[in-house]
This record gives sequence, C-alpha cells and structure tokens, in this order.
Amino acid sequence: MSTPPPPRYAAVRHLYLHIPFCARRCAYCDFNTYANLEHRIAAYVAALCDELAAWRALADPAPPLQRVARALMRADLPPTIFFGGGTPSLLPLSAFERILAASDALIPRQHAEITVECNPGTPLSRDYLAGLRSLGVNRISIGVQTLDDRILRVLGRTHTAADARAAYDAAVQAGFDRINVDFIFGLPGQTPESWLATLHTLVEWQVDHCSLYSLILEPSTPLAAQVTGGRITVPDDDDTGAMYEAALDILAAGGYTQYEISNWARRLPGDAARLVPANACHHNLAYWLNADYLGAGAGAHGHIPPYRTSHVLAVDDYIAAVREHGIPLADLVPLTGRDLFAETMFMGLRLNAGVSLAHIRERCGVALDAIAGETVAELVAAGLLERDAHAVRLTDRGRMFGNQVFAHFV
Ligand code: SF4
Repeated sequence: MSTPPPPRYAAVRHLYLHIPFCARRCAYCDFNTYANLEHRIAAYVAALCDELAAWRALADPAPPLQRVARALMRADLPPTIFFGGGTPSLLPLSAFERILAASDALIPRQHAEITVECNPGTPLSRDYLAGLRSLGVNRISIGVQTLDDRILRVLGRTHTAADARAAYDAAVQAGFDRINVDFIFGLPGQTPESWLATLHTLVEWQVDHCSLYSLILEPSTPLAAQVTGGRITVPDDDDTGAMYEAALDILAAGGYTQYEISNWARRLPGDAARLVPANACHHNLAYWLNADYLGAGAGAHGHIPPYRTSHVLAVDDYIAAVREHGIPLADLVPLTGRDLFAETMFMGLRLNAGVSLAHIRERCGVALDAIAGETVAELVAAGLLERDAHAVRLTDRGRMFGNQVFAHFV
C-alpha cells in the first residue's frame, strides 16, 4: 500500500486519537467504526503507539507556541488529547496506559485536558472510570442520545435510559467534575413532549456540559433506508426547529450558556467576563478556532498547515500500513491561503463569540476587510451577521441560516 509522506511539523498542542471499535453499529452511524473486531484491539493499540512514536520523530525540535487561541480568548487553550470513536470505553485500562505513555512524548498529560468518549452499555463501572481518572483522564463524554428506551431500540443503541443514568452517576462517583452528555433531537418517534422531558432531566442532572445535535440522515445508513422506504418517520423541519428553540429556552433558564451552535456549558461564577464559558470543551474549541492538531488512528483527520491529513480507514489496513510506513496517511491535501481563511470563518462563526478580527489576522495573515469586506457588509445588511470593533458573529437570524452564511466564505 502506498501512502503520502507525512509533513514535518512544529509541535502541536492538540491530539485526536481515533478508536474505531463498537459493540454494535447504530442504525444512524456513518463514522469509521467497526463491530465484532474486539479481537484486533491489542494489535490496534500497539500500532497506534507506534504511529505516535513516528510522529514524535518528525516534530521540529523548537516549536513556536501556538498563538491562535490567545487572540480570541486572551489566554492560551490548554493542550488537549481526545479519544474519540467509535467507542473508546471498549478499551481496557491497560490500553489507555500504553497510549497515554506514548502520547506523553507529544503532549505531556500533566497539564492537558484529556477526554474519553464513553458509551453506556459498555462496562462503565465506577472502578473503570476511576482507573481512567488515575491515568490523567479529566473529562468524560457520554453518548446518551435519548432517554426514551423505545427510540434507543430503533437507533440500535446497546443501552437503556437507566444504563445512561448509571453511567453518569458512576462518572460522578469516580470523581469526574467535567462530564459531557450527547443528545440527538429530530429522532424517529420523538415527540415534542418526550424531548421537553429529556431537556428537563438534563437540567436536573446538573451536567456541566451538553452537546445537542439534530439527527442527520446519512444516505448510506440503515436508518436512512427505513425512512426513505416509509417504514419509519422522523419529525419534519418545523418540529425539529421547534425542538432546538425549546432547548435554547430550557437550558438558558436551567443555568446553561450556549457557546456554540450545538454546545452548552453550565454557567460558573466569572463566566460573564469570559468569551467562552470555563466549562467549554477545549479540544473542540481548538477545532472551532481552526488550530493545528494532529490526528492518529484509523480514519483520523488532522490539520498541519499547510495540509489537511487523513488516515487509512480499515483497522487491518491501518495496522499493516503502520508496520510499513510508520504514519499511515491516505491523503495529504494542501490548503491555500484562501482555504485557510474560509475554514477559519465557517468554523469560528459556529461560536457565539464569533471570530475575532485579531484571530483572522493572526491565523490567516490577512485582515478580514481586505479579503471579504464586501461579503461581510452584505451579510450584515441582510441581518445575518453583526460586527463590532473586535469580532464578527452570526445574529440570531444568521444562526438559523448558518449554512447559507458559511457558503459565502467558501
Ligand atoms: S456507538 Fe457511536 S460510533 Fe459506535 S456505531 Fe453507535 S453512533 Fe457509531
């Protein structure tokens, strides 16, 4: 198998690690993830550690510190490591121990935000979660999706609402104070009443962070086939829009700050003086700030300017390609200055704080008005964007037509 040579890079502060194993494929999922491959976990973990060592060997020895975040938030983002999937919580603790030992050479874990995505239904015991914590993991993200058992079955999830609650309680008991829960709205059979009940439960749990996503019917999935075949129905756009608006109201009243189109953080003292709440997910902030990050693992993506990187997809191809090449890239896409600007705009506009003009200058080497002054003026006149001396951001109306706004910058 031939793979593009990886680029040299100045040391990164953000690392995404893809764990492509799941107990079962959910009906709506089109991620790069595989069921019934648990017997390959040990070989995969060994390959992932080898890949991290290969990246370490390529890092420039004297990295300039990344300044991207400072312009927006007046403070550097902490370094971050994110175990995403797939279902990272299918890995034994010994696997996390090995991977974190390997990643220490790239991003020492002591001062990093380290998140692990977990699914209820995997053995998320208090002991397992306490073990993660003792390895330095300090943030857990739980894929709950809905608290309606009937819908969980339609989605092909392997857990019940009670399992989700038990997983959340176990994370609290294990000492995690940074816990995210993921939910989806616009699901088959989901009524406004059941969504409202879910939102109220979420507020009752007092989670510190939640991500709420509208269902996307990916064409290649069994769920999409069931909907197009008329076997099940999903709420229409009006109902789904109403669910999103209900979330805005209930979470605001429940003490949460929305800081991104799909993300809310429980308000903490001092948040009013911050551009993003203290409880925000710093790893995802790195994406929204279009910062450099390194991706490792099967199908992982990375951003090492001037390139976007993507990895070999299948587990066994990945393991074989690591043996042969060290870093198994499938593609290396060069980005032009215009691409970098477009990405900085459409990622940054997802944040309620918007994109700071200083950040655009620092990240893209160009002033907003020099590259898109007329476009911004038109969108401001149309009521979709607003700007002040420091930043440009979506208006409430612009938030409803976000994709339309983003398209102006591509
Ligand atoms: S658990 Fe997540 S990654 Fe795995 S199949 Fe379900 S939706 Fe996809």
